[in-house]
Amino acid sequence: MWPTLAVCGVIITFAGVLFLIFGPLGIMLLIAGPIMIVAGMLLKEPNPSEPDDPAKKFCGYCNAEIDRDVSECPECRFPCD
Ligand SMILES: [Zn+2]
Repeated sequence: MWPTLAVCGVIITFAGVLFLIFGPLGIMLLIAGPIMIVAGMLLKEPNPSEPDDPAKKFCGYCNAEIDRDVSECPECRFPCD
């Protein structure tokens, strides 16, 4: 179960009903929405990416693996709290 995906699918489906008035985009959403709902029911939610080493974290900007206690990414100088 991947609740976020299923909820997004419900929203997309309702948006599709509304967009149906305006044309082909609504039909596309009406196809995509139910697929997302079914996929959300069937798929397992992927684990959020966490480094193997608990003393490390990923930079929010360049995704480099950096020490958890640094305040600035050594790769891209992005401030990481
Ligand atoms: Zn960085």
